[in-house]
Amino acid sequence: MDHKTPVTLFWFRRDLRLDDNAGLYHALKSGNPVLPVFIFDKEILDQLEDKDDARVTFIHQTIEDLRTQLHKQGSSLLIVHAKAQYAWDKLIKEYNITEVYTNHDYEPYAIQRDDEVAEKLHKHGIPFKTYKDQVIFEKGEVVKDDGKPYTVYTPYQRKWYSTLKPFYLKAYPTKKYFKNLYQTNALPAPTLKDLGFEKSSLALPDKSYENVIKDYKEQRDFPAIKGTSHIGLHLRFGTVSIRELARTTHSYHDKTWLNELIWREFYMMILHHFPHTMDHAFRPEYDRIHWVNNETQFEAWCKGETGFPIVDAGMRELNATGFMHNRVRMIVASFLSKDLLIDWRWGEHYFARKLLDYEMASNVGGWQWAAGSGTDAAPYFRIFNPDAQTKKFDPELQYIKKWVPEYADFSKYPKPIVDHAAARDRCLAAFKKALAK
Ligand code: FAD
Repeated sequence: MDHKTPVTLFWFRRDLRLDDNAGLYHALKSGNPVLPVFIFDKEILDQLEDKDDARVTFIHQTIEDLRTQLHKQGSSLLIVHAKAQYAWDKLIKEYNITEVYTNHDYEPYAIQRDDEVAEKLHKHGIPFKTYKDQVIFEKGEVVKDDGKPYTVYTPYQRKWYSTLKPFYLKAYPTKKYFKNLYQTNALPAPTLKDLGFEKSSLALPDKSYENVIKDYKEQRDFPAIKGTSHIGLHLRFGTVSIRELARTTHSYHDKTWLNELIWREFYMMILHHFPHTMDHAFRPEYDRIHWVNNETQFEAWCKGETGFPIVDAGMRELNATGFMHNRVRMIVASFLSKDLLIDWRWGEHYFARKLLDYEMASNVGGWQWAAGSGTDAAPYFRIFNPDAQTKKFDPELQYIKKWVPEYADFSKYPKPIVDHAAARDRCLAAFKKALAK
């Protein structure tokens, strides 16, 4: 391509689709030829512990798909593999950039990265324009009447619904403007190997969700049934539009599934207003808890060898598939932070490494909820009993038998690493002591 032609760049991040993409729509409407860019950010990739990380395989495949779609439009995708700041130095040097468009990202690292990129571009006289895309409501759009953020879900949800107008759910008709894509021959793309990764063998979930919504309310709590959508990965990387999901489900009488999407926005809003919750308790007094942090027990938890079948089933499902059912996420998180008195951040970190649908806001939110330190958390003295949870949610032991086959033969199954009743007392004492100060 001719590098001197003025070009507007659209920067893909966690919005990896051409249709109904807010930032791309605005870029295409600007009138200048638009060339999409994707940066394989070394800052992020270098931190990943597993070289066959399934999320990298997913992103790589998705980028390939996007390239193919763009080639059909006579355009291409510019791909850079570097730390974001270096990538932008290179792009500014090599191209005659008129403007850069992108969509908001609310995680603390991303906010800092974007501030630095905006400053860099600004120095070269290049405007950096950003848009809301991955949520229906962001930042301060759903707040209390006095402008303060909600910290409890139910009133947030109420305000979310009362703020909603059909306009918020409308799709951005990007296709109408594809003619404004920059016309060029195919640009090169790195292989997974070039990026330092290998192909993962995990099965990646598809984007279907409508088949679970009808019975979602009745089925969502039973891990043996596929009663939830597994769409988290697609929401994480924007291969599905949140407006499409919210539009479809809003037309249903039962709003249970839509309410879960609102939980996702609630946690993103919390992370935006309280970024310290990324690695500190939302309620500061909970940072005083004296964690036991026994490494051998942590390892047993990670491997699914605690001797508590429902906990072990959950951890094995996670290790084998990159997914864990929400009910079981709550059980294993409660078990780690309360029965084992292991710092919730250890568990949060392990989930971040393993979950295909890992999302900082929801993960931190879920972990702090379980540890009792977060917004809207159950009081600390409510401690999940793994046996009672099993009786209620896996009464036929179908889920347990699937993931812990040796459970049928007690001689092969590990003995419990703690006594739940004693662990409960120890937890109550530790929390009480920390909170009494
Ligand atoms: P469905 O039940 O089909 O719901 C559809 C979508 O709604 C989900 O994909 C998700 O985007 C959203 N959603 C559903 N439940 C919640 C919830 N409780 N909080 C926030 N959003 C929700 N969710 C993540 O997306 N990423 C995480 O890293 C994550 N970590 C968690 C850690 C713990 C300890 C706990 C208790 C929960 C966590 N969750 C996380 C929330 C929830 O467990 C998952 O969103 C859900 O299990 C994903 O399965 P699904 O896609 O089949 O969801």
